[in-house]
Amino acid sequence: MSFKSLGLSENLLKAISKKGYEIPSPIQVKAIPPILKGQDVLASAQTGTGKTAGFTLPLLHLLSENPKHKFRPIRALVLTPTRELAAQVYTNVKEYSAFLDIKSAVIFGGVNQKPQVATIRKGIDILVATSGRLLDLQNQGLLSLKRVEIFVLDEADRMLDMGFLRDMERIMKLMPPKRQNLMFSATFSKDIRKLANGILNHPVRVEATPENSTVDAISQKIHRVAKSKKTALTIKLISDGNWQQVLIFTRTKHGANRLTKKLIGAGITAAAIHGNKSQGARTKALAGFKNATIRVMVATDIAARGLDIPLLPHVINYEIPNISEDYVHRIGRTGRAGASGEAVSLVSADETSYLRSIEKLVGMKIPMEIIEGYEPDPNASTEPVKQGGGRNRNRGEGRNSSKKPKAYTSKQSNSSNKKKSRNRNRRAN
Ligand code: ADP
Ligand code: MG
Repeated sequence: MSFKSLGLSENLLKAISKKGYEIPSPIQVKAIPPILKGQDVLASAQTGTGKTAGFTLPLLHLLSENPKHKFRPIRALVLTPTRELAAQVYTNVKEYSAFLDIKSAVIFGGVNQKPQVATIRKGIDILVATSGRLLDLQNQGLLSLKRVEIFVLDEADRMLDMGFLRDMERIMKLMPPKRQNLMFSATFSKDIRKLANGILNHPVRVEATPENSTVDAISQKIHRVAKSKKTALTIKLISDGNWQQVLIFTRTKHGANRLTKKLIGAGITAAAIHGNKSQGARTKALAGFKNATIRVMVATDIAARGLDIPLLPHVINYEIPNISEDYVHRIGRTGRAGASGEAVSLVSADETSYLRSIEKLVGMKIPMEIIEGYEPDPNASTEPVKQGGGRNRNRGEGRNSSKKPKAYTSKQSNSSNKKKSRNRNRRAN
């Protein structure tokens, strides 16, 4: 199977080969043909399997095939749950449309709206957006979705987890009822099915991996351990195993900072990424991690979501997530592109019930090992730790990161920033 045989145009093939892609990934093979036919599609495939190109390539093909509109109304809307993901999808749209007469823009919260509005005014074909800023600009009468032909919901599962259902419903009402709808998700839950029923019209359902299964290439392990010994055990695993590229997940931003400091104190280069870090700091940490000057990246779920971290050999869950699907996402960060990976989870007594629901979701008992000197505390309570905020616990992440993501906005004056500060940060995204 080749990109050419999928029926994509020459100008797209040129961009694809410039990106260095040789063959389409399984989800691309399955999703691209029905999208090109104009059908609604519900696609699920693990993180890192090329879903973005799976919807962007056929979308670009369809838009450039149809006659161009004089004033370039927004003809396609891609909705994403986080700023990072919006920026990343936008980058892909730009790359894949390099040889097409297609204009695109990205909008998200936390930054001055002016440059975003100016770009939209000039006329764009594709808008990539987070829901908060989209509704904000719509309410101010600064954009219209009345001419949208194709609507894409990326990372639909995460949209639900973050409590964006209402926003999605409101956005849907702003578009013409007759349109093509595409929904992409890493997991396929009952909630997703329900959402799909409300949005999609006789959808073709495609999936590249069995639902919620964890890849065989990833070996998973649980270490039962006393809470107070987690940091020491983390350091031991990294040092004894001589692990050189490790992604660690913590439940809180504060926890990420604390662990990062301890690792650095133990002589292990580390950086934290989470919503309280400026975009500059996040980009720098990720770049350092990719080029191996930073050995460990400590992240919260939402910060890691959507980040493209290739060929990651080790993932450590310093705490296991209380939302089971997040476990699948987290370990999906290892064993990408067929490479083998290892995911270990440190589980203290209070996380017992989370572990049970994770094992239920992935449909297997994860092998457990207790390491001598790092035993669990026999007297600790199995009462779950307070989560605060429930399923919406991630909504606030990024709210305080008021630093501007420089790569995606241009020339913002301080005065206009101040003026806009009442709009800024109003929403999580
Ligand atoms: P997902 O959305 O499924 O998590 P992405 O769309 O972010 O995955 O893609 C993950 C990585 O795979 C990106 O670096 C992307 O450039 C790359 N990629 C996508 N399609 C292909 C392909 N056909 N061949 C090689 N690499 C690809
Ligand atoms: Mg994706």
